[in-house]
Amino acid sequence: MSLRLKFYGGAGKVTGSNFLLESSQSKILIDCGIEQGADIAVEEVYGPFPYDVSSIGALIVTHAHLDHVGRIPKLVKEGFRGRIHMTPPTRDLAELILRDSASILREEARRLGREPLYEEQDVDSALMLIEPLEYHTEKEVAPGLSAYLRDSGHILGSASVRIQSEENISVAFTGDIGNSPSPLLPDFEPVPDADVLVMESVYGNRAHPPQQRRAEILVEALKRAISRGGAILIPAFSLERTQLMLYELSNFFTEDSLPQIPVFLDSPLAIRVTDVYEKWGPTYFKPEAEDEMKREGSIFNFPFLTKTLSREESAAIEKVAGPKIVIAGAGMSHGGRIGRWEARYLPDPKTTLFTVGYQAPGSPGRRIAEGASSVRIAGTDVPIRAKVEVLEGWSAHADREGLLEFAQKSLEGGRVKTIFTALGEPAAERFLAQRIHDYLGARAIVPEFGQTWEIAKDSVNRI
Ligand SMILES: [Zn+2]
Repeated sequence: MSLRLKFYGGAGKVTGSNFLLESSQSKILIDCGIEQGADIAVEEVYGPFPYDVSSIGALIVTHAHLDHVGRIPKLVKEGFRGRIHMTPPTRDLAELILRDSASILREEARRLGREPLYEEQDVDSALMLIEPLEYHTEKEVAPGLSAYLRDSGHILGSASVRIQSEENISVAFTGDIGNSPSPLLPDFEPVPDADVLVMESVYGNRAHPPQQRRAEILVEALKRAISRGGAILIPAFSLERTQLMLYELSNFFTEDSLPQIPVFLDSPLAIRVTDVYEKWGPTYFKPEAEDEMKREGSIFNFPFLTKTLSREESAAIEKVAGPKIVIAGAGMSHGGRIGRWEARYLPDPKTTLFTVGYQAPGSPGRRIAEGASSVRIAGTDVPIRAKVEVLEGWSAHADREGLLEFAQKSLEGGRVKTIFTALGEPAAERFLAQRIHDYLGARAIVPEFGQTWEIAKDSVNRI
């Protein structure tokens, strides 16, 4: 008996994670993400799933980022009735992310003159199907298939998923692998007990600067920005990046290493996500951070942080003169409140903008990070006279060394025979595969969209 693994997303692409695993009795999905980036054809997102949705028995979700959960309500809308498994923090985060997504999709549908991909009630239906699954708990999720989650250290609640069949064939999906060590999250756990690993490779060909210097680099960059006298814009992903940023800022202000300037968290989503971090941090963070939370209460709050939930509060930020830090989504500047501040402040040479994460090809954030002289925001060309600083090492993803370490530690278990490098741009996937082959002596395959691979006890073949 064998398993069939089908790549329906996240092959040659960073986003749109979606894998189908099939046994003789059951079909399950791992992740049901949406593709992101300006170069994504509308039909790729809005088109039908390339499989019979009603035949899928269960969905296992690695983590709450939109590129891993973003099409779940569409799946439910089109007839999926199985259980959806994820960790309890992922459940809370996914609810926020999907509700936010539904409202963005409503806007998008209006712009495109078509039906929304899904609506709020589809999100409600999807949430009803969720059955939380804790880390390190083996659970039968469909006839003959069990799932086991491990911490992947990427964002709060993130997990790798190992699926095991009755015939003892096992395939694991890493989801996104964290940039360990994180100040908040436990380090990623390798997966030594699967026959086949489907591994992320976003930074498969790139190295991050050492993380120990990350806070130091940020504080120096902030001092430079403050001396320029203008606004300091930080387009940040609402999930994890924003909380890390708040945590570091809180440390800087406590240590007196920065002048006391106002900080605005101008994102309703990020404000709510931070609440979820406050809720689950004391049980899902690494022990040091859990202790810090138990000792200090919040580790994301400080005296001159203003959370601007309403539009009125947000608009009032403009009235604050002098240097001020504005943290807002979207992380790739492709919407959200940051657009308003970019349009307002990027033409001003006193402004500094920090890029702190992966910027997809074609996104406004990528153009800004690459030094373009103007960027199109909400239909208007905005000249960029601001200083743009790309702060690397803030990624929530392991870099090429971290990924290789993950592969090596997983291979040490002696069971992993084949590693697929997925969820990266093609060059990154190929580079990682080459290194896994050359340095670790393992078989590494770069999968392509739509391919089917047959996984038996002793062989992995494309069919
Ligand atoms: Zn992710």
